[in-house]
Amino acid sequence: MPLIEGECFCGAIKYRIDGDLVRARSCHCSRCRKAFGGAASAYAELAHSDSFSWVCGSENLSDYTSQESWGLAFCKTCGTTICGKHLGRVHGVVLGAVNGDPGVEIEAHIFVGSKAPWDHIGGTAPQVGTWQESRTAR
Ligand SMILES: [Zn+2]
Ligand SMILES: [Zn+2]
Repeated sequence: MPLIEGECFCGAIKYRIDGDLVRARSCHCSRCRKAFGGAASAYAELAHSDSFSWVCGSENLSDYTSQESWGLAFCKTCGTTICGKHLGRVHGVVLGAVNGDPGVEIEAHIFVGSKAPWDHIGGTAPQVGTWQESRTAR
């Protein structure tokens, strides 16, 4: 079973995943650009919800619920967005905070219709409107 580890910029928060990540994608919508502080999100889901555990610093997390039952958690000290949460449970992680190879690659760029005017999307992953569209395109 793979071990995936991640931490925030300041190192206060560390986590481990005893399992796989799946469904990696990069969302270019205006909400994700702000939430992730960049051209897009880079996010992958836990294959199994019980594979995630905090190593240290979970008391240093701040939660932001962006829409009903969905939210993000970030470090109170350095601001790194660490994970996405659904109904209070960790749903997936921000790939930028993973140490080393997370074992997944971006499968699709989504919401490319609302990407930033300064963004040049690279790579060979499909560029589509929604995540659902990326699933049916293959
Ligand atoms: Zn931090
Ligand atoms: Zn988005």
